[in-house]
This record gives sequence, structure tokens and C-alpha cells, in this order.
Amino acid sequence: NLSDRLERSFQLLKGQGKITEINVAETLKDIRRALLDADVNFKIAKTFTDDVKEKALGQNVLTSVKPGQLMVKIVKDELAELMGGTSADIDLTGSPSIILMAGLQGSGKTTFSGKLANLLKRKKGRHPLLVAGDVYRPAAIDQLKVLGEQIGVPVYTEEGNMDPVKIAQSAIKEAKRQGHDVVIIDTAGRLAVDEQMMKEISAIKKAVNPNEILFVVDSMTGQDAVNTAKEFNDRLDFNGVVLTKLDGDTRGGAALSIRSVVTKPIKFVGTGEKLDAIDVFHPTRMADRILGMGDIVSLVEKAQEQYDEEEARRLQKKLAKNTFNFNDFLKQINQIKKMGDLKDVVSMIPGMGKAVKNMDLDDDAFKHIEAIIYSMTPAEREDPALINGSRRKRIATGSGTNIQEVNRLLKQFAETRKMMKMVSQGKNIQRMMGGMK
Ligand code: GDP
Ligand code: MG
Repeated sequence: NLSDRLERSFQLLKGQGKITEINVAETLKDIRRALLDADVNFKIAKTFTDDVKEKALGQNVLTSVKPGQLMVKIVKDELAELMGGTSADIDLTGSPSIILMAGLQGSGKTTFSGKLANLLKRKKGRHPLLVAGDVYRPAAIDQLKVLGEQIGVPVYTEEGNMDPVKIAQSAIKEAKRQGHDVVIIDTAGRLAVDEQMMKEISAIKKAVNPNEILFVVDSMTGQDAVNTAKEFNDRLDFNGVVLTKLDGDTRGGAALSIRSVVTKPIKFVGTGEKLDAIDVFHPTRMADRILGMGDIVSLVEKAQEQYDEEEARRLQKKLAKNTFNFNDFLKQINQIKKMGDLKDVVSMIPGMGKAVKNMDLDDDAFKHIEAIIYSMTPAEREDPALINGSRRKRIATGSGTNIQEVNRLLKQFAETRKMMKMVSQGKNIQRMMGGMK
């Protein structure tokens, strides 16, 4: 996949001192291929890699930074930049402020209308009114009503009225009367872009002059999403994009393509069916997701500040020889504690995210771990194999823990040692933390 490929190509660069046309060419090719695989449009992938190349080549004076690290950073920054750089707001001025949803059927308009109403009510203290503008399917009106009930937001409907323009206009009048400060108009979609749908939504736009037209699109539809976005934008000149269903395993390449093709900001993402599964769009997070490689740059930055390189090298040797013991473990815990939340730090290492998910790594866990290790004799710390049943009991009593906790630590330690040995043979931590400088 994308992340493996990029990691491999960055690996190639890592050993080399400077970024040159030659050593960067292979990497760029990989990046381009990887982007295409993530559903990024061909032209955009090309432009993107050209930009990255230009930036990378301009950087070869920075001799203190190894190319691998620099490339990761350039690629990430460039991705984030392409997607808008910073998060975009929505316009909530006007009384009421009017927000119109547009998009194909099944893209998630109705769900997002509910999510947005909920967000504005809970987080911004607003009083939204939802408007059921999908008049063709009675089920669609019911769906919105159910959502409205769940979040305690009223839903404006007109049973039997088949004119969404009129409904929208009456809803706004009603909103003014009742003091609603935001009106969210849900609309009908079709399975494909068609003339009638476009005419209808254009007519609603003209009639209500919305503050925001949000184009809602299913991120799993990949390249199709880009074409749809373009057609809607040509007709509606919408203000922003909502990318739904990012909770699936989609890489999110559509975000990049849509943003480049229509040059409108992505404002929100939907991350689940539940009503709180809504996020403001963050370009840097999406860049991470597209790269799928963990936040390696900030890991390096963080680690370089705190991590003692000498110590790392010494550990590295011990790990390779498998003589890593509880004294080292203790030292390492202290190193890691200096770096902040362990889970955060370790999960930033590509491939390590899964490994740490199942480990017990909060601060309290550290306290117990330390207590247990301090209750070991120096000989036991040096050689954990000595720790038999009766020693375990003694350690448990001495540390104020219990035998289960001691057993768990010994087991975790054995696993950590195994994991570290594996890591030290491949992409080792020492090289990652110190050597990439
Ligand atoms: P509409 O036809 O554009 O109004 O789309 P709906 O809001 O009815 O959504 C279509 C389907 O997608 C529904 O089953 C929703 O529950 C689901 N859905 C919408 N947004 C999300 C999301 O962010 N994640 C997931 N997993 N499902 C979503
Ligand atoms: Mg709907």
C-alpha cells in the first residue's frame, strides 16, 4: 500500500547525504504512483511531485538534515498545503444564517444536516432549524424527523408540498418568527448528476441566497467524487465540501483531488453514522492519513529534543545482543516519560501503532512498573530469568502490588524485548530517533 511504498522509498533516501536529481527521482516516482493508488487525480499527482521535487532540490544546503526526513516533511507539508493549509470556517452571519446541502443521493446529506445541527447547538449555542427539502421520498422526511428528535432540533416539513423552493422560503419565514439563528436545508439527491436535480437546487439557491452551500460527498467514491464535485461546482459555485464516510478504510485521496480541481475548501468530515461523528477538516491530519505513515516528522522532532543519543546507541547494542534487562527498561521508561505520553510517542513510529494499542501504558502503569522493578534485586534486574515463583511473590509484596501485576510486567517485558529485537533488526528506533538527524 501507499504507506509501505513511501516508507521503502524514504528508506532508500535515508542513507544518503543530500537530495539530488538522481536520488530523488525514484522516490518521486513512488510518491506519484502511491498518490494515484490513493485515488488522487493523475494531473494533480504530477503537479504535486513536481512541486515536491522543486522544494526538495532547493533544500540541499541544509546538510544537517538527512534527505529521508526532509522528504517526508516536504511531502507532508505540500499535501497539507494543497488541501488548504488551515481549517476553514463556515459563515454563520445573518439572522438566520442559511446553509444549503447539495450532493448525490446516499452521499450523506441528511445525516450531515443532523450532525451539523447538533454541533451548532451543542458547541456554538445556536438554535438551528432543519428543513426537509427532499420531497420525493417520504422516507427521507421521516429520516430527518428522527434525527431532529434525537438531537432536540425542530424539523420543518410540509407534507404534500412538492415544491422544495417554496418549502425553503416558508421555512426561513418560520425560522425568523421562532427566532432560529441557523436554517439547514436538506435537499434531494439523485444517483447521478442530472439536469432536474441541478435545476432544482439552483432554484433553491436563487430563492434563499444561502450563506453556505455545502457539497456533501462520499469519500469512498474516489475519482467519481472529483467529477461530481466539478459538476456541482460549475452549476452552484458552492462554498465548501463535506467529506463523509471517512471512517471506512478509504485513504482520503479524494480530498486532495477535489480540493485541487474545484479550489474550494473541505470544511467538515463525517466519520461515522452516529450524530457526533463529525469533525472540522484538518489538512495536516488528512495529509497523515493519505500518507498513512504516522507522524514521523514530529516524532523525530520530539525525540531529538529529549532522547539521549549516546544512551540510544548503547541500548541499540544491547537490544541486538538481546541483553536488554530491567535496568535498561527502567532507564528507558525515564527517557520516554521525558518525551511525554508514551502511547503518543510510540504510535508515531510507523508500524508501531497496532503494537501499542494493546499495551497498558498510562502514567499510573509506569508507577507500578517502577515499583516492581525497584523491588527486584540488582541480580534479578540484570537477569530476569532468575525471577521464579517465590521471587515473584517477594517482589509483589515489596512493591505493594500483586503477583498478577508482577507476572504481567514480566510478560510485557519479554514481549517488549522480543519486539525491540525485531525493531532493532529492521527499522531500528535508534536510527529513527538519532540517526535521521
Ligand atoms: P443522503 O441521501 O445524501 O441524504 O444520505 P444519508 O444521509 O441518508 O446517508 C446515506 C447512508 O450513509 C446512511 O446509511 C448513513 O447512515 C450513512 N452515512 C452518512 N454519513 C456517514 C459517515 O460519515 N460514515 C458512515 N459510516 N456512514 C455514513
Ligand atoms: Mg437524504
